[in-house]
Amino acid sequence: MYRITVIPGDGIGGEVMDAALTVLDAVDLEFEFTLAEAGDGCFRRCGETIPDETIRLVRKADATLFGAVTTVPGQKSAIITLRRELDLFANLRPVRSLPGVPCLYPDLDFVIVRENTEDLYVGDEEYTSDGAVARRVITRAASERIVRFAFDYAVGDGRGGVTAVHKANVLKKTDGIFREVFYEVASSYPQVEANDYYVDATAMYLITQPHEFDVIVTTNMFGDILSDEAAALVGGLGVAPSANIGKKNAIFEPVHGSAPQIAGKNIANPTAMILSTALMLKHLKKPQEAQKIQEALERVLKKGVMTPDLGGTATTSGMADAVRKEVLEL
Ligand code: ATP
Ligand code: MG
Repeated sequence: MYRITVIPGDGIGGEVMDAALTVLDAVDLEFEFTLAEAGDGCFRRCGETIPDETIRLVRKADATLFGAVTTVPGQKSAIITLRRELDLFANLRPVRSLPGVPCLYPDLDFVIVRENTEDLYVGDEEYTSDGAVARRVITRAASERIVRFAFDYAVGDGRGGVTAVHKANVLKKTDGIFREVFYEVASSYPQVEANDYYVDATAMYLITQPHEFDVIVTTNMFGDILSDEAAALVGGLGVAPSANIGKKNAIFEPVHGSAPQIAGKNIANPTAMILSTALMLKHLKKPQEAQKIQEALERVLKKGVMTPDLGGTATTSGMADAVRKEVLEL
């Protein structure tokens, strides 16, 4: 039995979560779901965007599903707090084309592994007499664990290559260390091909020759930018899943936010949340069940059952029911 903490959150978060749970319920595994609160609605109810109780429930779960939250400027970000408190150092963003979904390339399949704890995200900025400076922190320890994660992922997922993305020609010390650690770690994975590109070239190659990539590993800020670019290659926000993984805990969430303008209308695309659920099953070492969800979803999309953001007329719940039906038939 798997203990799953479920955080629906705000806006469309609850709707896409309901859809994903409808699908997950059709899989032949036992789950114990525990509901937890976070986000702006939670703040209005209890005065906190991320209560200690929620952090505790995420900590003790085998995995957590996170819908989406609205972060009001000035409020503490629930997801950033969780990533930090639980040391979820790896952000995994699969980039995979889906049948029937309008996209730039129909046959892409690679993953971006983004370091999730340091770089410019340490939030160390200060004003100077003439402007401001931000500290960019890159440590050997964090570089080593993210690079190792990327190589282990490549081996586990049967992928042949890992590409480090950096800007070591300009950021000689920080990214110099990242590149150096990359090749040190790579030497213990002789079966996986290792190479490196500059981030600017990568931004271009993602558009012109994205098939070159298998696993990309990169620092926090570059990963932030490149993974949104990559998501656009395969259909955008509504279909992009992600995982935040640490040594002990993991949170699975769609890349999109709470989209308040379309909330409550039953038109949000549940694809990203459903794919995040499949990622969770893979993480829980249930690859066959993960594959089942993936395949069921693809069958539904292939039939043209999709939400308005992808040009279809299906509802969120209608799509969930259709995917559930396919899972039960597989
Ligand atoms: P937040 O402040 O929580 O990020 P947002 O309105 O910026 O909310 P995003 O998820 O970042 O929401 O998405 C931006 C826009 O993309 C949304 O307003 C919506 O039109 C569209 N969008 C995002 N996710 C989905 C989805 N799952 N289904 C349909 N449209 C979506
Ligand atoms: Mg947004």
